Amino acid sequence: MEHKEILLEVHRLCKTFPVPHRLLGHTIAKVSALHNVSFTLYKGETLGLVGESGCGKTTLGRTILRLFEPTSGRIIFDGIDITHCSACQMRTMRKKMQIIFQDPYAALNPRMAIQQILEEPIQIHHIANGKVASAKRIYQLLDYVQLPSTVLYKYPHELSGGQRQRICIARALAVEPTFIVCDEAIAALDVSVQAQIINLLMDLQKELGLTYLFISHDLRVVEFIADQVAVMYLGKIVEAAPAAEIYKSPTHPYTKALFSAIPTMDPSKSRERIILQGDIPSPRNLPTGCCFHPRCWKAVEKCSYIQPELAKIGGENHQVACHFPEID
Ligand code: SF4
Repeated sequence: MEHKEILLEVHRLCKTFPVPHRLLGHTIAKVSALHNVSFTLYKGETLGLVGESGCGKTTLGRTILRLFEPTSGRIIFDGIDITHCSACQMRTMRKKMQIIFQDPYAALNPRMAIQQILEEPIQIHHIANGKVASAKRIYQLLDYVQLPSTVLYKYPHELSGGQRQRICIARALAVEPTFIVCDEAIAALDVSVQAQIINLLMDLQKELGLTYLFISHDLRVVEFIADQVAVMYLGKIVEAAPAAEIYKSPTHPYTKALFSAIPTMDPSKSRERIILQGDIPSPRNLPTGCCFHPRCWKAVEKCSYIQPELAKIGGENHQVACHFPEID
């Protein structure tokens, strides 16, 4: 059996945001954005994180990078517990942990030429000594993202959306990371450009041994790129499994409903569409028991007061948080 090395372990991670009074400023309520989230990510693999808008995917990505302070739980990156690292210690860790955002235009400083944008992280993190080494590194980055050197003297507004996202990828790679959070990294791009960026990310992963946390609401893209998939609902992981298994046999009722909406050209793969009733409950007032019970067609009485834990079922590494997991 192939030996896999762990890069990232997340244990029972919680993140709560205070809700301040609009006029007085003091906290009047708390919103639970992440609740006991646990998973393991192996080196060189991609974990696809899916779920509806507002389910906590982005908060999870940013909390792992310590852009948000965790409320409780542990984050172990490459064997180091970074949950309570100081800002100074995190500066060193950030070289290894990068993020690519959804909107490449907002992510780039419009007043800086592309050369300056790529040079900045190289200088801050002392990746190359001297101008010649720095220039060499910049050309290498352009080579990675398949852009000509002519873009170096342009400004972000002079580039297309796809070119801007390639620059964002190059900037993330500038500090030689091992782990990248791709936060809806292709959502703002045209479909044809999305395919190019996905292929680029996959080629870079092979070439540089990168590990991705790929956050997306596009289930078809996640099926294509991810090795493992985790499904989130109201700040919790409700199902996690290898990509091939979860797409073949979604087990949690929420996953089944979500995956039933994937359009397919192959009639043999088409599933009966499951339309969920009701709205997503407010994170300020989470349901008791199973957080999905107000919308679940399989719910029984105990679902409303006993919270199911993520537990192994069936195949290797397939986990589901449901009292009645059932593989089709
Ligand atoms: Fe539905 Fe109950 Fe399973 Fe929750 S625990 S998903 S309410 S059947």
